[in-house]
Amino acid sequence: MHLFDIYPQEGEKDTVVWVPSTSGSFKIGQTWHWLRRRQDRKIWHRLVWFSQAIPKHSFISWLAVLNRLSTRARQKQWTPTISDTCILCNGSPETNEHLFFKCSYTRRIWQQLSSMLGIPFADSWQVLLQWMGKKLRRKSLHNLLIKLAWNAAIYHTWLERNRRFHQQLFKVESMIVQDIQFEVRSKILGFSRPNSSLLPMGIACKWGLETIVKH
Ligand SMILES: [Zn+2]
Repeated sequence: MHLFDIYPQEGEKDTVVWVPSTSGSFKIGQTWHWLRRRQDRKIWHRLVWFSQAIPKHSFISWLAVLNRLSTRARQKQWTPTISDTCILCNGSPETNEHLFFKCSYTRRIWQQLSSMLGIPFADSWQVLLQWMGKKLRRKSLHNLLIKLAWNAAIYHTWLERNRRFHQQLFKVESMIVQDIQFEVRSKILGFSRPNSSLLPMGIACKWGLETIVKH
């Protein structure tokens, strides 16, 4: 609610002015923008939501960065009697940070992916998010490859966690990396005209993309 000082002028007619609108008349669009809460765009926004993203991957990444996935640590808050041990390593509570970064299983996946992508291996989920948020602003196939791989890694980690939990089926880390590589490669090869000018050949070869790199 906004309150304004009013100074009535003698002899002047009262008029109704709709303050949110620039014209003074009621406009639903301008009222909507006035009413809604504006928030700064988060650093991870363009890492999760971008035009070439794989939607099912982005959806899980989005829930992961918001810490909204139903990890066992979260479940334990509601049901204290259940175990919160990580099903991937059986070593620590399954929190968001642990599952997607600190877990020894996940870290081996990240180590392989970091090497394949030619990027430094980060110490924490937040450090990686900060690094990607700053470094991946430029549009290039290399940056797109990193973003697709990051989203795919989160998705396949969550998939593996659920597979173990619900089906008692296990995949080793190298198989997860192969799944990530296959999906990301298929996505990029499906582009009509990928801009490959900034993708180093050594990295392209690791992802099976050497045929699209310009010589
Ligand atoms: Zn673990």
